[in-house]
Amino acid sequence: MTSALMQNYGSPELEFERGEGSFLYTIEGERYLDFAMGIAVNSLGHCHPKLVDALTRQANILWHTSNLYRISQSETLARQLVQHSFADRVFFSNSGTEAVECGFKMIRRYFHNRGQSQRKRIIAMSGSFHGRTLAAIAAAANPAHCEGFLQGDTGFDQAKFGDLDSLSNTITADTAAVILEPIQGEGGICVAEKDYLLGVKGLCEQHDLVLMFDEVQCGIARTGSLYAHEQLGVNPDILASAKGLGGGFPIGACLATEELASALSPGTHGSTFGGNPLATAVGSAVITEVTTESFLSNVRQLGSYLKAELEKLVTQYPQHLNRVTGLGLFIGLVCEIDAAELIERLQQEKLLLVKAGDNSIRWLPALNVSREEIDSALTILTKVLSDW
Ligand code: PLP
Repeated sequence: MTSALMQNYGSPELEFERGEGSFLYTIEGERYLDFAMGIAVNSLGHCHPKLVDALTRQANILWHTSNLYRISQSETLARQLVQHSFADRVFFSNSGTEAVECGFKMIRRYFHNRGQSQRKRIIAMSGSFHGRTLAAIAAAANPAHCEGFLQGDTGFDQAKFGDLDSLSNTITADTAAVILEPIQGEGGICVAEKDYLLGVKGLCEQHDLVLMFDEVQCGIARTGSLYAHEQLGVNPDILASAKGLGGGFPIGACLATEELASALSPGTHGSTFGGNPLATAVGSAVITEVTTESFLSNVRQLGSYLKAELEKLVTQYPQHLNRVTGLGLFIGLVCEIDAAELIERLQQEKLLLVKAGDNSIRWLPALNVSREEIDSALTILTKVLSDW
């Protein structure tokens, strides 16, 4: 039967019926080892019992009331995020791109409230990705995403990621803020150097700019700290979070300091579903799990192990593989051979991975993946490479 869906995702054929931990199962019962995890979404694997419990318990009590009323589950999750981060306040949405949008609106309103409405330009970085709303594609300015949607001045400027001179040369009197992913995801897993981030912070302070981080993909313990920037030594004023926060249930969060958050006074922003009891009950269970030191250190250890093993394969297969990038369990394998074709062959061997922009493969296993599951994935990769 022809699909009634819009064709923006093409027509993928592979379908899964159920998931458990690191595995997905087709209707025919075929088992796949999932190292894509919904593109860094299922942070605790599929159907983690504590998340199923949080969701079903809440589903039996109350699904939705709206932000016209107090939602204690969202208060609790906001408190947890504040306790574990630089932030003083949180706004909940339903996706990463909405979390980014909240940050953009906060920035503009902040300068507007200061009587500097002309300061509304935001600088984003080359190779970045911030989602698919008009503002998000305008920020990242990826031509493939903008074609037919935007033309002329969008209010965003772009600097070269990793290049302080480029940023410095892009700042004007109308610049309000800088947004960047401390570790880029879609563009290829690319970790910002500590010195670069310190330099960005310095330029922001010098020019009175707001610094916003997009940790939609690299956040929620993926790198071995709740947010990646904690390991890179620089705090932002605003941070967008989503994906892993709901462990598979849709939720986004925009975190901010009191100074910035106060720009969103009552009535200035909102979302019908943002902060709903189901999403925030699950998010709370995720944060409780991923913020213990033992959980975080395990992510760091497993990440170091996977990275070291992949590096061995790079040495063994220099015609096929180029290098390994990333931090914790946010790992990129840059290929010499076509990454899409390698992913296809790995999928035939029942290992799921995701491509990134620079002909690389993203390794995004569940954060509670086992050493044995990592070894199984490496065995499959080794087999596919040796048969290439
Ligand atoms: N920002 C980053 C860094 C992302 O990786 C993504 C999604 O891949 C987004 C924003 C957009 O998130 P969503 O697809 O939930 O809107």
